[in-house]
This record gives sequence, structure tokens and C-alpha cells, in this order.
Amino acid sequence: MTKLSYLHGNHSELKLGLVGAGIQASLTPAMHEREAAEHGLTCRYQLIDLDALGLEADALPEILDEAESAGLAGLNITHPCKQSILPLLTDLSADARMIGAVNTVVFCDGRRLGHNTDWLGFRESFLHGMGGVSLERVVQLGAGGGGAATAYALMKMGAEHLDLVDLDHRRCQTLVDRYSAIFGPGRISAATDIEASLAAADGLVHATPSGMKSHPGLPLPGALLRGSLWVAEIVYFPLETELLRAARAAGCRRLDGSGMAIHQAIEAFRLFTGLDADPTRMRRHFLAQLRT
Ligand code: NAD
Repeated sequence: MTKLSYLHGNHSELKLGLVGAGIQASLTPAMHEREAAEHGLTCRYQLIDLDALGLEADALPEILDEAESAGLAGLNITHPCKQSILPLLTDLSADARMIGAVNTVVFCDGRRLGHNTDWLGFRESFLHGMGGVSLERVVQLGAGGGGAATAYALMKMGAEHLDLVDLDHRRCQTLVDRYSAIFGPGRISAATDIEASLAAADGLVHATPSGMKSHPGLPLPGALLRGSLWVAEIVYFPLETELLRAARAAGCRRLDGSGMAIHQAIEAFRLFTGLDADPTRMRRHFLAQLRT
């Protein structure tokens, strides 16, 4: 495919890529390239932006073939390809299979191994930033790609009950059914009355695009927040979303979206290279880029 011919190049460098739509502002390439340099590796991390290339998700088979033959060690996968990539992979990690979404593909001896590092990213970030909070009753807004990973992490961390809310009711119910089959019935439900769900909750996880620079605003009435509620955000651009600002005003304990983004990249870096990234350095690089 000529459109992707720029993938070919120097074979001695570590070559990685990100496949998705509208990813020109992604911080992922610089995070991997800078961390690789700290380990003495030359890394070229390329954006394979469907929008910029005038392609749709149906170009994925060709993109994977091209990336593999160009000698890429692996790919990160983002919206809208995290699910459509599944049938094109040789094997899936147990977690990726259960979540039903892949954000990291490793090419190895002619095989394509799919992983999901988003859930680990959220878990790590949550354990560091929210240690000790109650997971008895949690409400999560958003059941898309990011929300599937955070809900999985919450269930794995022992959430006793999760109310899942999404404007797309079918999507929400599909995820509830999927996780009820894995974690047992009654631990996760689809909910529509946010006010009632929040009134009984210990914490709120936000996994919709609301609050991003491109989708400003609050995902729920700010008056529903109260000081006894913890609030975990996964949007990280901006770092303090309108939801986190409202949560600060209400006196809530808060977690921003940076930790999930950093820790998913740390795990992807380990899968690509076998090396442990330095979390403090990755965080410094991430925050520096966010400010530019
Ligand atoms: P997505 O499009 O796959 O899913 C978003 C879901 O939110 C959709 O199902 C949509 O119906 C629902 N939704 C939208 N507005 C809503 C509202 N007001 N109330 C209830 N549901 C609503 O998107 P995604 O890939 O899950 O990403 C969501 C956000 O999370 C984006 O801002 C993305 O950048 C961020 N994200 C961050 C990380 C991280 O590492 N921090 C990882 C993944 C995604």
C-alpha cells in the first residue's frame, strides 16, 4: 500500500506506531521515543492516522500487513479500532479477551498478539492515587473503549457493585452482560437515573469524552457531587476537567486521567521492548508535553 510506504526505513531502530482516527495531537509517540532514548534505543514511533490518510477502519488488514512487513515491533491501537482489530490478531491476552478490546499489538515471530494495557493503566493509577477509598458502590459514566477497561479494572479491584450509565443504552447493556458473565450476576447493572445512583454511591468514574477540549462541559449536573464522593476522571486533556473542578469545589477526593495514560504506556513499552519504563520519568515527559 503506497499510502503507508513511509513506514519502511532504518531496520536497526525500534519502530512502533499508533493506529487510530484524529490522533495528530497524541502524546504517545513522544512518551515512547523519549523513554526508549533513556534506555539507549533509537525509536521511531509513527502515527497511522486514518483521518489524515483518508482511510476507514476497513483498511486495518492492510495496515497490519504493512506494519508487520516494515519491521515494526508493535502498534498501539486507539479509537475507532480497538474492537475491529480483534479478528485480525493471532492471539489475545486473557484480559484483552475478557474486555473485548485491544490497545496494544506485539508482532512476534509472525504472530500478532493483542493486549489491553488501558485497564492496567487505570488500576495502577487508581491504586496509587485513590488508595483506601471504598469500592462498595461505584457509578461509572461511559461504556465505550475506555469505560470497558475502567469497569474491568474496578471489578478486578473488588468493586462490590457498579452502576454503569451510558447514553447508548444498548452499548451499556452489552458491557453489563459481558461482565456479569465473567464476574457473576448482580455486581454490575445498567442504570439510567444518575441522581439515584450517585446518592447511594461511594465514588464516580468518568469515562465519556465530556470535558475534553473538543467536548467542553460537565457530563452531569455539578450539584449532584458531594464531599463524601470520590471522583476518578480518565479524560486528561485538559488535566483538570470541568468535572474535576466541580468535584474540587464540592470537596471530593479526586484522580485525574494522567495516571491511566502514563501507566498504560509503561505497560505497552514493556510489552514492546521487554524493558521497564521509569514511571517518574514517564510522568515528567507526559506532563511536559501536555504543557506545550
Ligand atoms: P468512546 O467513544 O469509545 O466511548 C464514550 C462513551 O461515552 C460512548 O459510549 C458514549 O455513548 C458515552 N457518552 C458520551 N457522553 C455521555 C454522557 N454525557 N453520559 C453518559 N454517557 C455518555 O470513547 P473512549 O475511547 O471510551 O474515550 C472516552 C474518553 O476517555 C476520551 O476523552 C478519551 O480521550 C479518554 N480516554 C483516556 C484514557 C487514558 O489513558 N487516560 C484511555 C482511554 C480513553
